Amino acid sequence: MEISINIFFGLWILLPFLFILGVSFYYDRIRLKQLAPERYKTIFHCLKCGLIYSQKGIVSTATCPRCDRENGHLKF
Ligand SMILES: [Zn+2]
Repeated sequence: MEISINIFFGLWILLPFLFILGVSFYYDRIRLKQLAPERYKTIFHCLKCGLIYSQKGIVSTATCPRCDRENGHLKF
């Protein structure tokens, strides 16, 4: 089997690039999972009393500290 010189050098550059890209995505996902609970806060707006409050971590609902109503997180 014969491979042309262009394909050979194309793979020579492309394969390490794809490898580094894959490794960086992998470590990004691991780091996000580890840091998400401490670094991120989710913001909520109470529809009953109008209070804006936050919860640590990435959560979809939280109870209002003032009136105990369950609210969904704000979407931007
Ligand atoms: Zn409230």
